[in-house]
Amino acid sequence: MSKFTIVMIEDEKNICNFIESALERQDYKVSTAYNGRDGLALINSLCPDVILLDLGLPDLDGIDIIKSVRSWTTIPIIVISARTQEQEKVAALDFGADDYITKPFGTSELLARIRTALRHGKPTVKAIDGCVVQTPYRCEGLYIDFAKRLVTLNDHKIHLTQIEYKLVSLLAENSGKVLTYDYIISHIWGPYADNNNQILRVNMAHIRRKIEANPAEPKYIFTEIGVGYRMKESEI
Ligand code: CA
Repeated sequence: MSKFTIVMIEDEKNICNFIESALERQDYKVSTAYNGRDGLALINSLCPDVILLDLGLPDLDGIDIIKSVRSWTTIPIIVISARTQEQEKVAALDFGADDYITKPFGTSELLARIRTALRHGKPTVKAIDGCVVQTPYRCEGLYIDFAKRLVTLNDHKIHLTQIEYKLVSLLAENSGKVLTYDYIISHIWGPYADNNNQILRVNMAHIRRKIEANPAEPKYIFTEIGVGYRMKESEI
């Protein structure tokens, strides 16, 4: 049995203790640092499977820690942030954090984020008949076959425009993970696109009308207010 190693950098000791015992109950091996410098040293020596990083640390800026880690590794980073740190959350994601979780959070939410991060550390392609294809997305009634560019909902084909398909497949390929507005816009419309969110919002509304039973209460694509969108984790 292989235990996954998690490095947690968080200066609030009671939060550390709480998270640590919750993770250890799930058989994760946890090493904790109460400041950024010790945290970076732990990451360098342990090369963990996941990093949990509080953005508000006494010595270093969380964003600088992300930049430093990203200069040599793609180890998943989950940022722990306060509700008031919207701009920092977006910056953290844009500088290479994989996800964030907002305080206060429950253990089950944190464990789900860690499982997602661990899954995204692995390739999502498989070989069929000697060809390398991307694993399809499936969640409840929604199915996306990337090789065939086919989207079905409860076995009925959904007709999407080219932009709508690109959007849905980008979110589905990263399912479970939040993608920022700027990240999505630059991937769909190119790096020089005007980064106002209006065209993105309009397209998302069209997509929701096609795939959600109730677009006001989406089941597949969630809005992370002020940050971006997250598609529900694929079951396969
Ligand atoms: Ca803190």
